[in-house]
Amino acid sequence: MRELDILIIGGGIGGLTAAIALRASGHRVTVIERDPEWSVYGVGIIQQGNVLRAMKSLGLLDDYLAGAVGFDFVAVHAPDGTLVAKVPSHRLIEGCPANVGISRPALQKVFVDRTLAVGANVRLGVTVDDLDDLGDQVQVGFSDGTEARFDLVIGADGIHSQTRRLVLPDSPSPDFTGQSVWRYNLPRPADLDALHVYNGPIGAGLVPMSDALMYMYLTTPEPGNPHYPRAGLAAAMRSKVPAALGELAAQIVDDAGVVYRPLEAILLEGPWHKGRVVLLGDAVHATTPHLGQGAGLAIEDAIVLAEEIARHDTPDAAFSAYRERRFERCRYIVEASLAICRGQLGKGPLVDNAQATAAMFDVIARPI
Ligand SMILES: Cc1cc2nc3c(=O)[nH]c(=O)nc-3n(C[C@H](O)[C@H](O)[C@H](O)COP(=O)(O)OP(=O)(O)OC[C@H]3O[C@@H](n4cnc5c(N)ncnc54)[C@H](O)[C@@H]3O)c2cc1C
Repeated sequence: MRELDILIIGGGIGGLTAAIALRASGHRVTVIERDPEWSVYGVGIIQQGNVLRAMKSLGLLDDYLAGAVGFDFVAVHAPDGTLVAKVPSHRLIEGCPANVGISRPALQKVFVDRTLAVGANVRLGVTVDDLDDLGDQVQVGFSDGTEARFDLVIGADGIHSQTRRLVLPDSPSPDFTGQSVWRYNLPRPADLDALHVYNGPIGAGLVPMSDALMYMYLTTPEPGNPHYPRAGLAAAMRSKVPAALGELAAQIVDDAGVVYRPLEAILLEGPWHKGRVVLLGDAVHATTPHLGQGAGLAIEDAIVLAEEIARHDTPDAAFSAYRERRFERCRYIVEASLAICRGQLGKGPLVDNAQATAAMFDVIARPI
């Protein structure tokens, strides 16, 4: 299919990757983003070789690496802090690191700058009110009262996807896992040369994301999914820091700097499209972050979707081929991540983090 009018709902990681990939194929692209500020929160993200490979294919590699910290292994520690393994990872792009840590704002800037530069039409503070698939096009009513028709619509609107609810109303809703994650930016010690993971009932990690900064994350059991008011969040996070990282706890002082998220997951086992509307990223397979692959999967989805749209003559053929290429890889990441989560919660066998990480590196090294 060539030179289509395509609407992307959601200007996050997956939606913007799709915009860039589809503009490269010559399609006219509109992105609508609900957040009028187009903001992202300030902590960082871990990405692996498959993301570097994807960034290269999108022509974004230099901009991306300029804002990131590269490293070639993951250091795994016992609960008492002892280093138990250095898990090597595959370099998938010659001359580049195997993994990176990057702040979310820096990653978002790479995608936003390119999306605007390639001429996508971006509308902020807008969402959809209704989608009416007419068979040959989709009639879209926007929240600002305007209407337009598109050849295809892509729902890249995240784990609580409105598009999913509109077109696949019988699909499941995300499940709370029983665990939450706490994140906080800290000064990066000069010798923090990689992602350092600490095993235990409270999982923890230190992630370098710039010369000056790293972030700490904690995964904690939160039975009943309690609400933590903003006031007091820093003290609450401090109280959960495991002993091995105790020296850093005193630096967690700013309630506004704590990013707290209950961990949810979803995997759509059925179709990922209906008619001319298709979903990608967290809207169809939101994983817990235990293997640091959620954003990588969303980026890969977008690239594969653009390839299949170019390859096929009908939306149904393109969208079915896209799901076929993506499903098993996404299922693997969602299930392997949930297994680590359940092990930490005592709801399943304890997973050896070093083995799980090494297995994940092998899987994501395979071509998409
Ligand atoms: C705690 C935590 C830590 C994580 N850490 C990592 C990590 O280290 N590495 C990694 O690879 N992944 C990580 N992830 C996962 C990663 O953040 C997601 O997988 C990724 O952001 C999914 O991209 P997406 O584009 O599908 O959705 P999102 O990034 O959620 O983007 C969706 C966009 O759509 C917009 N939107 C929502 N609804 C509407 C609507 N109705 N209309 C218009 N716009 C809408 C939103 O504002 C947002 O901009 C983590 C996730 C969590 C929860």
